[in-house]
Amino acid sequence: MMLGKKQLLINGEWRDASNGKTQPVVNPATEEVIAEVASATPEDVDAAVQAARAALEGPWGTMPARERGRLVYKLGEQLMAEADEMARLETLHNGKPITESRHVEIPMAAECLQYFAGWADKVHGETVPVKGGQLVYTLREPVGVVAAIVPWNFPLLIAIWKVAPALAMGNTVILKPASQTPLTALKLGEMATNLGFPPGVLNIITGSGSTAGQAIVDHPGIDKIAFTGDTSTGKGIMKSAADTLKHITLELGGKSPNIVFADADLDAAVRGATMGIFYGKGEVCAAGSRLLVEASIKDEFLAKVADRAKKMTAGDPLNPKTRLGAISSKSQMERVLGYIETAKKEGATLLAGGERTDIGTGKGYFLQPTVFGDVTGDMTIAREEIFGPVLAAIEFTDVEDAIAKANSSIYGLASGVWTKDIKKAHYVASKLKAGTVWINTYNVYDTAAAFGGYKQSGFGREMSMHALEYYTQVKTVWVELA
Ligand code: NAD
Repeated sequence: MMLGKKQLLINGEWRDASNGKTQPVVNPATEEVIAEVASATPEDVDAAVQAARAALEGPWGTMPARERGRLVYKLGEQLMAEADEMARLETLHNGKPITESRHVEIPMAAECLQYFAGWADKVHGETVPVKGGQLVYTLREPVGVVAAIVPWNFPLLIAIWKVAPALAMGNTVILKPASQTPLTALKLGEMATNLGFPPGVLNIITGSGSTAGQAIVDHPGIDKIAFTGDTSTGKGIMKSAADTLKHITLELGGKSPNIVFADADLDAAVRGATMGIFYGKGEVCAAGSRLLVEASIKDEFLAKVADRAKKMTAGDPLNPKTRLGAISSKSQMERVLGYIETAKKEGATLLAGGERTDIGTGKGYFLQPTVFGDVTGDMTIAREEIFGPVLAAIEFTDVEDAIAKANSSIYGLASGVWTKDIKKAHYVASKLKAGTVWINTYNVYDTAAAFGGYKQSGFGREMSMHALEYYTQVKTVWVELA
């Protein structure tokens, strides 16, 4: 066990779980246990809530906004100063290629902190021109104690999408990483403590979803839940949070359509289709997992996509040359293999991959990039989120057919459109029921651009100025002047 035992961060102190229990963290590329982390109890959650509330009423609540922003900015700087170590931890517990951790995820997380740090002293109330003889003004106040519950696919980045706006707007935070991937969240807590964040402002609670997560959702002292994860977990959280009427934002699953018209730059579209599904091993909520291809180019296009998929080989995630890492866990790998079997049974044609693979060590949860053709809308792999490197290709006949097929999903997270016809591109973008539309590109993000779902992909927006709404509340003050 190379990283040893890790404790909870509550009120600026590192502690064991109240019952002393721990749970293992596994490196999916080697199948080895690399750390033991505390498995928090409801009592630990309660202690974190008390600490977060005290910090809110105390040092964090009274700190000038600009100073708060400066601390959040410094956290971004520190993240970059320790980017090599952070990236290594992210790759060790998640299995993603080190290039993705070091050059995409960690820099994006640092940038997000610095972006929201800049907003700290720029969000404020206004005066309101009412009809009577009163002065009416508004105060923009923090929501309060915010719990961030996050998944294992982008463990640090998705946490930061919540932690950064929450802290910048003056909230205090309880961060619960996924049980598979707690290491970077713990390291973030260490950095914040060392930088002088007051105790209780950022608490890190590791443990299971069913115990620690559920205790957070049920705790009456938490004002808001910012959740990213599976749609069914999100539905359960929404139901539980109703009992204490917490604010909630949910970023859930997807089955995003990537639509390729015959008039597209086909080489660029082939790259976009493969990167859209195989980046991050397909464990990307916005993955372009449904490839909609115009019938007239289908065979030629899918042959090229399959060819590219076959050339992508899995490698050691810590090797900078690796572009395809390990699936995050054994259970996730088995789930994906189950979908592959279902696709075959339901009559889809396997064009590439379809098997478990290895990198010469005989260990690790690696899968071949997989492409299925002849997929129809009623098949399981066209409807359900697989969250793995499996592409389902569906053919369409014309623009309206493409739009109808793209929208025939319970999800609406993202979408892609490939065409050289500018009118068609914008028309389709206007018709797609999705929170993001990428035209002639895929899987690009920026802290200044909002991200979030339509339909059962959730509600609320992360990144951008729109996120600020979800971490503040408006107080209206009436002053009688007569
Ligand atoms: P998950 O729902 O199993 O777990 C997410 C988090 O919720 C974990 O921290 C888990 O411990 C916790 N949790 C589980 N049960 C809980 C409960 N009852 N109460 C409180 N917390 C609980 O999801 P996952 O498997 O870790 O992540 C994969 C999912 O996340 C996919 O569906 C994916 O599409 C989605 N996702 C969405 C976005 C987005 O922005 N929309 C981004 C990334 C991932």
